Amino acid sequence: MFGKGSIIYSVTKNKCPRCQEGDFFKNPNSYKLGTFTEMHVNCSSCGLKYEIEPGFFYGSMYVSYALNVAWFVTLWVATSVLAPDMAKMTQFLIIAVTLLAMYPIMYRYARLLYTNIFVKYKRV
Ligand SMILES: [Zn+2]
Repeated sequence: MFGKGSIIYSVTKNKCPRCQEGDFFKNPNSYKLGTFTEMHVNCSSCGLKYEIEPGFFYGSMYVSYALNVAWFVTLWVATSVLAPDMAKMTQFLIIAVTLLAMYPIMYRYARLLYTNIFVKYKRV
């Protein structure tokens, strides 16, 4: 289910959506803040051009928005259930800090998920 051939594999392992061999982002470490946005132009294994058309990755902002809202709602419900007396401002600050801390991961997952919507896995 999470092995090679699944979208989850491509997204979590930073792999090309088509062949799942070549790396998508240049640096495998999401928290190397100077370079976490740098991507390869083409897949080193199958040659897929990652930016399918100019401005392709603008669409990944919608995926990023959905991921961030999902994280916000999950943490809001979790903190409300686990600590019902917690002040709303504290809840909000916890969520805001975790969202900021997860920004590099959300950025990468959004781009990889968005690309995986349009490019299907093909065994090479
Ligand atoms: Zn590839």
